[in-house]
Amino acid sequence: MTFENTLAFAQEQDKQDELAHYREQFHHPVINGKEVLYFTGNSLGLQPKSAKEYVNKELDDWAKWGVEGHFHANNPWVSYHEILTPASAHIVGANESEVVCMNSLTTNLHLLFVSFYRPDAKRFKIISEAKMFPSDRYLLETQIRHHGFDPDEAIIEISPREGEHLIHEDDILAAIEENADELALVFFGGVNYFTGQLFDMEKLTKAAHRAGALAGFDLAHAVGNVPLKMHDWDVDFAAWCTYKYLNSSAGNVGGIFVNDRHGNNTELNRFGGWWGHNKERRFLMENHFEPMTGAEGWQISNAPVMGMAILKASLDIFFEVGMDKLRAKSLPLTAYLEFVFNDVVDQFPDIQLEIITPEDADKRGCQLSVKLIGTDKSFFQALTDAGVIADFREPDVIRLAPTPLYNSFEDVYLFGEILKTLLKSWS
Ligand SMILES: *Cc1c(COP(=O)(O)O)cnc(C)c1O
Repeated sequence: MTFENTLAFAQEQDKQDELAHYREQFHHPVINGKEVLYFTGNSLGLQPKSAKEYVNKELDDWAKWGVEGHFHANNPWVSYHEILTPASAHIVGANESEVVCMNSLTTNLHLLFVSFYRPDAKRFKIISEAKMFPSDRYLLETQIRHHGFDPDEAIIEISPREGEHLIHEDDILAAIEENADELALVFFGGVNYFTGQLFDMEKLTKAAHRAGALAGFDLAHAVGNVPLKMHDWDVDFAAWCTYKYLNSSAGNVGGIFVNDRHGNNTELNRFGGWWGHNKERRFLMENHFEPMTGAEGWQISNAPVMGMAILKASLDIFFEVGMDKLRAKSLPLTAYLEFVFNDVVDQFPDIQLEIITPEDADKRGCQLSVKLIGTDKSFFQALTDAGVIADFREPDVIRLAPTPLYNSFEDVYLFGEILKTLLKSWS
Protein backbone atom coordinates (compact mmCIF):
# COMPACT_ATOMS: atom_id res chain seq x y z
CA MET A 1 0.00 0.00 0.00
CA THR A 2 1.21 3.52 -0.76
CA PHE A 3 0.84 5.71 2.29
CA GLU A 4 0.45 9.46 2.48
CA ASN A 5 1.15 11.56 5.52
CA THR A 6 -2.06 13.57 5.27
CA LEU A 7 -5.19 13.84 7.38
CA ALA A 8 -7.36 13.01 4.35
CA PHE A 9 -5.47 9.77 3.73
CA ALA A 10 -5.67 8.72 7.40
CA GLN A 11 -9.38 9.46 7.56
CA GLU A 12 -10.01 7.50 4.37
CA GLN A 13 -8.25 4.47 5.90
CA ASP A 14 -10.45 4.78 8.98
CA LYS A 15 -13.53 4.96 6.80
CA GLN A 16 -12.58 1.70 5.10
CA ASP A 17 -11.65 0.00 8.37
CA GLU A 18 -14.33 -2.52 9.33
CA LEU A 19 -13.03 -2.57 12.94
CA ALA A 20 -13.14 1.23 13.32
CA HIS A 21 -16.31 1.18 15.44
CA TYR A 22 -14.60 -0.85 18.19
CA ARG A 23 -12.78 2.34 19.20
CA GLU A 24 -16.06 3.53 20.71
CA GLN A 25 -16.23 0.47 22.93
CA PHE A 26 -13.29 1.72 25.03
CA HIS A 27 -12.79 4.62 27.44
CA HIS A 28 -10.14 6.96 26.05
CA PRO A 29 -8.38 8.95 28.79
CA VAL A 30 -8.87 12.71 28.76
CA ILE A 31 -5.88 14.44 30.36
CA ASN A 32 -5.70 18.22 30.82
CA GLY A 33 -9.03 18.51 29.06
CA LYS A 34 -7.86 16.73 25.92
CA GLU A 35 -8.33 13.17 24.69
CA VAL A 36 -4.85 11.71 24.56
CA LEU A 37 -3.30 9.71 21.75
CA TYR A 38 -2.97 6.37 23.53
CA PHE A 39 -0.16 4.13 22.28
CA THR A 40 0.43 2.15 25.45
CA GLY A 41 -1.79 -0.88 25.01
CA ASN A 42 1.45 -2.88 25.37
CA SER A 43 1.68 -1.77 28.99
CA LEU A 44 -1.90 -1.29 30.14
CA GLY A 45 -4.78 -1.66 27.73
CA LEU A 46 -7.74 0.73 27.78
CA GLN A 47 -10.92 -0.07 29.67
CA PRO A 48 -13.73 -1.70 27.69
CA LYS A 49 -16.89 0.29 28.41
CA SER A 50 -18.68 -3.02 29.02
CA ALA A 51 -16.36 -3.89 31.95
CA LYS A 52 -18.45 -2.09 34.54
CA GLU A 53 -21.59 -3.98 33.58
CA TYR A 54 -19.79 -7.34 33.77
CA VAL A 55 -18.42 -6.55 37.24
CA ASN A 56 -21.74 -5.15 38.43
CA LYS A 57 -23.41 -8.41 37.45
CA GLU A 58 -21.12 -10.32 39.80
CA LEU A 59 -21.50 -7.71 42.58
CA ASP A 60 -25.28 -8.01 42.21
CA ASP A 61 -25.09 -11.80 42.36
CA TRP A 62 -22.88 -11.59 45.44
CA ALA A 63 -25.38 -9.24 47.12
CA LYS A 64 -28.25 -11.50 46.15
CA TRP A 65 -26.76 -14.90 46.87
CA GLY A 66 -23.79 -14.54 49.23
CA VAL A 67 -21.88 -17.80 49.24
CA GLU A 68 -24.61 -19.47 47.21
CA GLY A 69 -23.36 -17.45 44.24
CA HIS A 70 -20.72 -20.13 43.80
CA PHE A 71 -23.50 -22.28 42.38
CA HIS A 72 -26.42 -19.93 41.70
CA ALA A 73 -24.83 -16.83 40.21
CA ASN A 74 -25.66 -16.30 36.55
CA ASN A 75 -22.14 -17.47 35.80
CA PRO A 76 -21.52 -19.77 38.77
CA TRP A 77 -18.26 -18.75 40.47
CA VAL A 78 -17.17 -22.31 41.11
CA SER A 79 -16.54 -22.66 37.39
CA TYR A 80 -16.11 -18.99 36.46
CA HIS A 81 -12.64 -19.51 35.00
CA GLU A 82 -14.14 -21.93 32.46
CA ILE A 83 -16.03 -19.16 30.66
CA LEU A 84 -12.70 -17.51 29.85
CA THR A 85 -11.34 -20.60 28.15
CA PRO A 86 -12.81 -20.58 24.61
CA ALA A 87 -11.57 -17.07 23.83
CA SER A 88 -8.20 -17.68 25.51
CA ALA A 89 -7.73 -20.86 23.48
CA HIS A 90 -8.58 -18.96 20.29
CA ILE A 91 -6.15 -16.15 21.07
CA VAL A 92 -3.14 -18.38 21.76
CA GLY A 93 -4.04 -21.14 19.27
CA ALA A 94 -4.67 -24.00 21.66
CA ASN A 95 -7.14 -26.75 22.48
CA GLU A 96 -9.49 -25.64 25.23
CA SER A 97 -8.03 -28.32 27.49
CA GLU A 98 -4.62 -26.64 27.13
CA VAL A 99 -5.42 -23.23 28.66
CA VAL A 100 -6.66 -21.81 31.91
CA CYS A 101 -6.72 -18.33 33.48
CA MET A 102 -5.27 -18.14 36.98
CA ASN A 103 -2.87 -16.16 39.24
CA SER A 104 -0.54 -13.72 37.53
CA LEU A 105 2.24 -13.98 35.01
CA THR A 106 5.47 -14.39 36.95
CA THR A 107 3.74 -16.57 39.54
CA ASN A 108 2.45 -18.80 36.77
CA LEU A 109 5.87 -19.08 35.19
CA HIS A 110 7.29 -20.24 38.51
CA LEU A 111 4.55 -22.86 38.76
CA LEU A 112 5.21 -24.03 35.21
CA PHE A 113 8.93 -24.22 35.88
CA VAL A 114 8.14 -26.57 38.77
CA SER A 115 6.90 -28.97 36.11
CA PHE A 116 9.04 -28.13 33.10
CA TYR A 117 12.42 -27.13 34.50
CA ARG A 118 13.68 -30.28 36.16
CA PRO A 119 17.46 -29.96 35.83
CA ASP A 120 19.95 -32.68 36.61
CA ALA A 121 23.75 -32.71 36.63
CA LYS A 122 23.75 -33.33 32.90
CA ARG A 123 20.90 -31.15 31.62
CA PHE A 124 20.51 -27.88 33.50
CA LYS A 125 21.02 -25.05 31.02
CA ILE A 126 18.42 -22.54 29.84
CA ILE A 127 18.76 -20.56 26.63
CA SER A 128 17.04 -17.19 26.65
CA GLU A 129 17.28 -13.70 25.23
CA ALA A 130 19.64 -11.08 26.60
CA LYS A 131 17.84 -8.08 28.07
CA MET A 132 14.74 -10.06 28.82
CA PHE A 133 12.06 -8.50 31.00
CA PRO A 134 13.61 -8.27 34.49
CA SER A 135 10.89 -10.34 36.17
CA ASP A 136 11.60 -13.22 33.78
CA ARG A 137 15.30 -12.91 34.45
CA TYR A 138 14.69 -13.08 38.21
CA LEU A 139 12.51 -16.12 37.59
CA LEU A 140 15.38 -17.86 35.81
CA GLU A 141 17.99 -16.92 38.39
CA THR A 142 15.93 -18.02 41.37
CA GLN A 143 14.64 -21.23 39.76
CA ILE A 144 18.19 -22.21 38.87
CA ARG A 145 19.44 -21.48 42.40
CA HIS A 146 16.47 -23.34 43.84
CA HIS A 147 17.80 -26.46 42.11
CA GLY A 148 21.33 -25.84 43.38
CA PHE A 149 22.85 -24.60 40.14
CA ASP A 150 24.71 -21.40 39.34
CA PRO A 151 22.77 -18.93 37.15
CA ASP A 152 26.00 -17.68 35.57
CA GLU A 153 26.68 -21.16 34.35
CA ALA A 154 23.15 -22.25 33.60
CA ILE A 155 21.76 -19.24 31.69
CA ILE A 156 22.94 -18.89 28.13
CA GLU A 157 21.94 -15.45 26.92
CA ILE A 158 21.65 -14.76 23.24
CA SER A 159 22.54 -11.13 22.50
CA PRO A 160 22.25 -9.03 19.39
CA ARG A 161 25.52 -8.97 17.47
CA GLU A 162 27.96 -6.14 18.11
CA GLY A 163 26.43 -2.79 17.12
CA GLU A 164 22.99 -4.29 16.40
CA HIS A 165 19.70 -4.19 18.31
CA LEU A 166 17.97 -7.38 17.23
CA ILE A 167 18.78 -11.03 17.82
CA HIS A 168 19.62 -13.25 14.86
CA GLU A 169 17.53 -16.40 15.04
CA ASP A 170 20.47 -18.29 13.57
CA ASP A 171 22.45 -17.40 16.69
CA ILE A 172 19.74 -18.91 18.89
CA LEU A 173 19.61 -22.08 16.79
CA ALA A 174 23.39 -22.38 16.85
CA ALA A 175 23.46 -22.03 20.64
CA ILE A 176 20.76 -24.68 20.99
CA GLU A 177 22.80 -27.10 18.91
CA GLU A 178 26.04 -26.24 20.62
CA ASN A 179 24.58 -26.84 24.08
CA ALA A 180 22.32 -29.72 23.10
CA ASP A 181 23.79 -32.19 25.58
CA GLU A 182 23.35 -29.89 28.57
CA LEU A 183 20.20 -28.06 27.55
CA ALA A 184 17.07 -28.35 29.70
CA LEU A 185 14.98 -25.51 28.35
CA VAL A 186 14.63 -22.83 25.69
CA PHE A 187 12.72 -19.94 27.26
CA PHE A 188 12.00 -16.77 25.32
CA GLY A 189 9.58 -13.87 25.21
CA GLY A 190 7.38 -14.51 22.14
CA VAL A 191 7.74 -10.80 21.37
CA ASN A 192 10.59 -9.01 23.13
CA TYR A 193 9.19 -6.23 25.32
CA PHE A 194 12.03 -3.81 24.57
CA THR A 195 12.62 -4.09 20.83
CA GLY A 196 9.27 -5.54 19.75
CA GLN A 197 11.07 -8.39 17.94
CA LEU A 198 8.76 -11.35 17.27
CA PHE A 199 10.52 -14.71 17.41
CA ASP A 200 9.73 -17.77 15.33
CA MET A 201 8.37 -19.84 18.19
CA GLU A 202 7.76 -22.88 16.02
CA LYS A 203 11.34 -22.94 14.82
CA LEU A 204 12.73 -22.47 18.33
CA THR A 205 10.46 -25.20 19.68
CA LYS A 206 11.53 -27.67 16.99
CA ALA A 207 15.18 -26.90 17.66
CA ALA A 208 14.69 -27.33 21.41
CA HIS A 209 13.01 -30.70 20.89
CA ARG A 210 15.76 -31.86 18.53
CA ALA A 211 18.21 -31.08 21.32
CA GLY A 212 16.15 -33.12 23.78
CA ALA A 213 15.03 -30.00 25.65
CA LEU A 214 11.65 -28.32 26.20
CA ALA A 215 10.46 -24.94 24.91
CA GLY A 216 8.44 -22.39 26.89
CA PHE A 217 7.41 -18.82 26.09
CA ASP A 218 6.40 -15.69 27.92
CA LEU A 219 3.60 -14.33 25.76
CA ALA A 220 3.11 -11.03 27.65
CA HIS A 221 3.79 -8.97 24.52
CA ALA A 222 2.49 -11.50 22.02
CA VAL A 223 -0.96 -12.37 23.34
CA GLY A 224 -3.74 -10.38 21.68
CA ASN A 225 -1.08 -8.81 19.47
CA VAL A 226 0.08 -11.45 16.98
CA PRO A 227 -1.54 -14.69 15.80
CA LEU A 228 -0.30 -17.62 17.88
CA LYS A 229 -0.49 -21.37 17.33
CA MET A 230 0.80 -22.80 20.57
CA HIS A 231 -0.63 -26.26 19.89
CA ASP A 232 0.37 -26.63 16.25
CA TRP A 233 3.84 -25.28 16.97
CA ASP A 234 4.09 -28.00 19.61
CA VAL A 235 5.20 -25.55 22.31
CA ASP A 236 5.51 -27.24 25.71
CA PHE A 237 4.23 -24.43 27.93
CA ALA A 238 3.53 -20.70 27.94
CA ALA A 239 2.12 -17.98 30.17
CA TRP A 240 0.81 -14.47 29.65
CA CYS A 241 -0.66 -11.50 31.45
CA THR A 242 -3.99 -10.00 30.40
CA TYR A 243 -3.61 -6.34 31.36
CA LYS A 244 -1.52 -5.38 28.31
CA TYR A 245 -3.10 -6.07 24.92
CA LEU A 246 -5.99 -7.97 26.53
CA ASN A 247 -7.27 -4.86 28.36
CA SER A 248 -8.23 -6.57 31.62
CA SER A 249 -7.03 -3.89 34.13
CA ALA A 250 -3.87 -3.52 36.19
CA GLY A 251 -2.42 -6.69 37.67
CA ASN A 252 -5.38 -8.84 36.65
CA VAL A 253 -5.37 -12.61 36.36
CA GLY A 254 -2.98 -14.27 33.88
CA GLY A 255 -3.24 -17.31 31.63
CA ILE A 256 -1.26 -20.47 30.94
CA PHE A 257 -0.86 -22.96 28.13
CA VAL A 258 0.19 -26.53 28.82
CA ASN A 259 0.47 -28.78 25.79
CA ASP A 260 -1.96 -31.71 26.05
CA ARG A 261 1.05 -34.00 25.73
CA HIS A 262 2.00 -32.86 29.26
CA GLY A 263 -1.44 -31.89 30.52
CA ASN A 264 -2.69 -35.43 30.16
CA ASN A 265 0.18 -36.72 32.26
CA THR A 266 -1.21 -36.45 35.78
CA GLU A 267 2.04 -37.95 37.11
CA LEU A 268 3.91 -34.80 36.10
CA ASN A 269 5.49 -32.99 39.03
CA ARG A 270 3.62 -29.86 40.13
CA PHE A 271 2.49 -27.83 43.13
CA GLY A 272 -1.04 -28.71 44.12
CA GLY A 273 -4.08 -26.89 45.46
CA TRP A 274 -7.76 -27.69 45.63
CA TRP A 275 -8.68 -25.92 42.38
CA GLY A 276 -6.38 -28.26 40.45
CA HIS A 277 -7.89 -31.32 42.11
CA ASN A 278 -10.36 -33.65 40.40
CA LYS A 279 -13.39 -31.38 40.24
CA GLU A 280 -15.92 -34.14 40.88
CA ARG A 281 -14.26 -34.77 44.23
CA ARG A 282 -13.08 -31.24 45.10
CA PHE A 283 -15.67 -30.66 47.80
CA LEU A 284 -15.31 -34.07 49.43
CA MET A 285 -12.37 -32.53 51.29
CA GLU A 286 -10.26 -35.70 51.11
CA ASN A 287 -6.51 -36.14 51.40
CA HIS A 288 -4.32 -37.08 48.43
CA PHE A 289 -4.05 -34.64 45.59
CA GLU A 290 -5.42 -36.00 42.35
CA PRO A 291 -4.72 -33.45 39.58
CA MET A 292 -7.23 -32.81 36.82
CA THR A 293 -6.03 -33.42 33.30
CA GLY A 294 -5.25 -30.40 31.15
CA ALA A 295 -4.03 -26.95 32.09
CA GLU A 296 -6.68 -26.74 34.82
CA GLY A 297 -4.63 -29.26 36.77
CA TRP A 298 -2.10 -26.46 37.45
CA GLN A 299 -4.66 -24.28 39.26
CA ILE A 300 -4.12 -23.84 42.96
CA SER A 301 -6.66 -21.45 44.42
CA ASN A 302 -10.27 -20.60 43.71
CA ALA A 303 -10.74 -18.00 41.03
CA PRO A 304 -10.83 -14.20 41.59
CA VAL A 305 -14.21 -13.59 40.00
CA MET A 306 -14.32 -9.76 40.04
CA GLY A 307 -11.12 -9.42 38.03
CA MET A 308 -12.12 -12.26 35.78
CA ALA A 309 -15.39 -10.46 35.01
CA ILE A 310 -13.39 -7.58 33.50
CA LEU A 311 -11.27 -10.04 31.55
CA LYS A 312 -14.46 -11.69 30.28
CA ALA A 313 -15.73 -8.31 29.02
CA SER A 314 -12.54 -7.85 27.03
CA LEU A 315 -12.25 -11.43 25.79
CA ASP A 316 -15.79 -11.26 24.44
CA ILE A 317 -14.61 -8.43 22.19
CA PHE A 318 -11.53 -10.37 21.06
CA PHE A 319 -13.57 -13.47 20.39
CA GLU A 320 -16.10 -11.52 18.37
CA VAL A 321 -13.44 -9.86 16.21
CA GLY A 322 -11.00 -12.77 15.98
CA MET A 323 -7.22 -12.60 15.82
CA ASP A 324 -7.06 -12.81 12.00
CA LYS A 325 -9.00 -9.59 11.54
CA LEU A 326 -7.03 -7.88 14.28
CA ARG A 327 -3.76 -8.79 12.65
CA ALA A 328 -5.10 -7.75 9.24
CA LYS A 329 -5.65 -4.24 10.61
CA SER A 330 -2.59 -4.20 12.85
CA LEU A 331 -0.15 -4.73 9.98
CA PRO A 332 -1.10 -1.60 7.96
CA LEU A 333 -1.67 0.47 11.13
CA THR A 334 1.86 -0.14 12.40
CA ALA A 335 3.28 0.21 8.90
CA TYR A 336 1.53 3.59 8.71
CA LEU A 337 3.08 4.65 12.01
CA GLU A 338 6.48 3.64 10.66
CA PHE A 339 5.83 5.63 7.47
CA VAL A 340 4.61 8.77 9.25
CA PHE A 341 7.43 8.61 11.78
CA ASN A 342 10.12 8.30 9.14
CA ASP A 343 8.48 10.96 6.97
CA VAL A 344 8.62 13.45 9.86
CA VAL A 345 12.06 12.52 11.19
CA ASP A 346 13.60 12.70 7.71
CA GLN A 347 12.73 16.41 7.68
CA PHE A 348 15.12 16.97 10.60
CA PRO A 349 18.55 15.66 9.62
CA ASP A 350 20.13 16.98 12.85
CA ILE A 351 17.95 14.85 15.07
CA GLN A 352 18.50 11.12 15.23
CA LEU A 353 15.60 8.96 16.24
CA GLU A 354 15.83 5.40 15.04
CA ILE A 355 13.21 2.65 14.96
CA ILE A 356 14.94 -0.49 16.24
CA THR A 357 11.96 -2.85 15.81
CA PRO A 358 12.32 -5.18 12.79
CA GLU A 359 11.24 -3.67 9.47
CA ASP A 360 9.93 -7.06 8.41
CA ALA A 361 6.26 -7.15 9.45
CA ASP A 362 6.48 -10.93 10.03
CA LYS A 363 9.06 -10.24 12.72
CA ARG A 364 7.05 -7.79 14.80
CA GLY A 365 3.68 -7.13 16.38
CA CYS A 366 2.08 -3.69 16.61
CA GLN A 367 4.83 -2.06 18.71
CA LEU A 368 7.58 0.16 17.34
CA SER A 369 10.52 0.96 19.62
CA VAL A 370 12.31 4.23 18.96
CA LYS A 371 15.83 4.71 20.16
CA LEU A 372 16.75 8.24 21.19
CA ILE A 373 20.17 9.21 19.98
CA GLY A 374 21.55 12.57 21.03
CA THR A 375 18.30 13.43 22.81
CA ASP A 376 17.33 12.49 26.31
CA LYS A 377 14.31 11.61 28.37
CA SER A 378 13.06 15.21 28.27
CA PHE A 379 12.02 14.51 24.69
CA PHE A 380 9.73 11.79 25.97
CA GLN A 381 8.39 14.16 28.61
CA ALA A 382 7.62 16.71 25.90
CA LEU A 383 5.66 14.08 23.96
CA THR A 384 3.64 13.26 27.06
CA ASP A 385 2.97 16.93 27.74
CA ALA A 386 1.70 17.26 24.18
CA GLY A 387 -0.88 14.53 24.79
CA VAL A 388 0.86 11.39 23.49
CA ILE A 389 0.78 8.51 25.95
CA ALA A 390 3.67 6.25 24.98
CA ASP A 391 6.21 4.76 27.36
CA PHE A 392 9.87 5.12 28.09
CA ARG A 393 12.13 2.19 28.84
CA GLU A 394 15.57 2.78 30.28
CA PRO A 395 18.05 3.65 29.05
CA ASP A 396 16.85 5.31 25.83
CA VAL A 397 13.82 3.75 24.17
CA ILE A 398 10.30 5.04 23.58
CA ARG A 399 7.74 2.36 22.79
CA LEU A 400 4.70 3.13 20.65
CA ALA A 401 2.02 0.48 20.26
CA PRO A 402 -0.98 1.35 18.08
CA THR A 403 -3.54 -1.37 18.78
CA PRO A 404 -6.02 -2.40 16.10
CA LEU A 405 -8.98 -2.46 18.50
CA TYR A 406 -8.99 1.15 19.63
CA ASN A 407 -6.37 3.09 17.67
CA SER A 408 -7.09 4.73 14.35
CA PHE A 409 -5.05 5.83 11.36
CA GLU A 410 -5.99 9.37 12.35
CA ASP A 411 -4.33 8.81 15.76
CA VAL A 412 -1.15 7.95 13.90
CA TYR A 413 -1.39 10.99 11.65
CA LEU A 414 -1.99 13.30 14.65
CA PHE A 415 1.00 11.76 16.40
CA GLY A 416 3.13 12.68 13.38
CA GLU A 417 1.94 16.29 13.59
CA ILE A 418 2.84 16.49 17.29
CA LEU A 419 6.22 14.93 16.58
CA LYS A 420 6.85 17.50 13.84
CA THR A 421 6.04 20.40 16.16
CA LEU A 422 8.30 19.02 18.86
CA LEU A 423 11.22 18.38 16.53
CA LYS A 424 10.88 21.90 15.11
CA SER A 425 11.33 23.39 18.54
CA TRP A 426 14.29 21.06 19.20
CA SER A 427 16.28 21.63 16.06
C1 LIG B 1 4.63 -7.28 31.71
C2 LIG B 1 5.59 -8.38 31.82
C3 LIG B 1 5.79 -9.07 33.01
C4 LIG B 1 5.06 -8.66 34.26
O1 LIG B 1 4.93 -9.74 35.15
P1 LIG B 1 3.78 -9.77 36.25
O2 LIG B 1 4.06 -11.04 36.94
O3 LIG B 1 2.46 -9.74 35.54
O4 LIG B 1 3.94 -8.57 37.13
C5 LIG B 1 6.67 -10.14 33.01
N1 LIG B 1 7.35 -10.50 31.91
C6 LIG B 1 7.18 -9.84 30.73
C7 LIG B 1 7.95 -10.27 29.52
C8 LIG B 1 6.32 -8.76 30.66
O5 LIG B 1 6.18 -8.10 29.50
